[in-house]
Amino acid sequence: MAAQRFDRVRAAMADRGVDVLLLSVGADLPWLTGYEAMPLERLTMLVLPVDGDATLVVPALEAPRVRERPALFALRPWGETEDPVAIVADLVGRARAAAIGNRTWSQFLLALQGSLPGTAFRPASEVLGPLRAVKEPDEIAALRGAAAAVDRIAAALQAGEIPLVGRTEADISAELSRRILAEGHHRVNFAIVAAGENAASAHHEPGDRVVQPGEIVLCDFGGAMVGADGVGYCSDITRCVHVGEVPAELAEQYAALRAAQAAGVAAATVGTPGEAVDAAARRVLADAGLGEAFVHRTGHGIGVEEHEDPYLVAGNAAPLVAGNAFSIEPGFYLPGRWGARLEDIVVATPDGPDALNRVDHDLVAVDR
Ligand code: ZN
Ligand code: ZN
Repeated sequence: MAAQRFDRVRAAMADRGVDVLLLSVGADLPWLTGYEAMPLERLTMLVLPVDGDATLVVPALEAPRVRERPALFALRPWGETEDPVAIVADLVGRARAAAIGNRTWSQFLLALQGSLPGTAFRPASEVLGPLRAVKEPDEIAALRGAAAAVDRIAAALQAGEIPLVGRTEADISAELSRRILAEGHHRVNFAIVAAGENAASAHHEPGDRVVQPGEIVLCDFGGAMVGADGVGYCSDITRCVHVGEVPAELAEQYAALRAAQAAGVAAATVGTPGEAVDAAARRVLADAGLGEAFVHRTGHGIGVEEHEDPYLVAGNAAPLVAGNAFSIEPGFYLPGRWGARLEDIVVATPDGPDALNRVDHDLVAVDR
């Protein structure tokens, strides 16, 4: 699998006239090699020439973490007194066009630009974005496993197994995080818990606000779970629950949200532009008078990274292709009152949209 991925990357580099690919921190490197660089000041960098052998330049003290794959890349550990930028520059040699990972520290890009005045640098996303956005079957299986894990947590929330009343948002968030790990993820990416009027803030930071009876509680959580090839794939789900009976006005608004989310999922067919999926969901909320309250895009791609191509947003005319995986997550936010969001991960397939999250989409009332 990994060898095929190297071949596809080299073909994409050749297509785009890229002589060498340089990957450091971020999701590109683990997607390609299974190794994730530590986000530290010591340089880790894969140097992958379009027509030569690849080398992973890595701090000597981190080299033992690398699962060696001599058929794919050589390992070049560097000692504390060596200059890793000089080592990389030497490997890049006379390459004229380099594609460098978008998340690479600017410190290293600037140093490489200084050492390689004849090399033009472009973002690696030009080469890797289209490849990473089309998931292979083992990647979809990994996403499905991660989605099933967070579905079980959402089901526990809806069943009232996670007490809410009298607890702070931060405390509930910590419990969601523990459950994310207990369900087999190796990393928690986030666990947003927003109660009452805080649910009107789309990316609320869970704090010391205590949940009261009669409130909506928005929970948006996810992490990364190791799947095929030892690489972590992400989960991301949002469900809202309501402590006690749902007020009629909120029930009506939530019904529109649920219809908008279903419309977004139904629209996410192969060949449909990302912006058309966004419009399909947005139209339903606008018709319900909540268009102004839907303040963000409808969704984002997901894979090794929580947010990646394709984005379902006005302005993205690129049609979905089979194997794209993305969230469908419309929401509405009424400052000072409440808000809600509903999110599933969906895969575009030749047979239509395949929603990976299956847990109840209702605004479930819980009693504690
Ligand atoms: Zn989310
Ligand atoms: Zn999301």
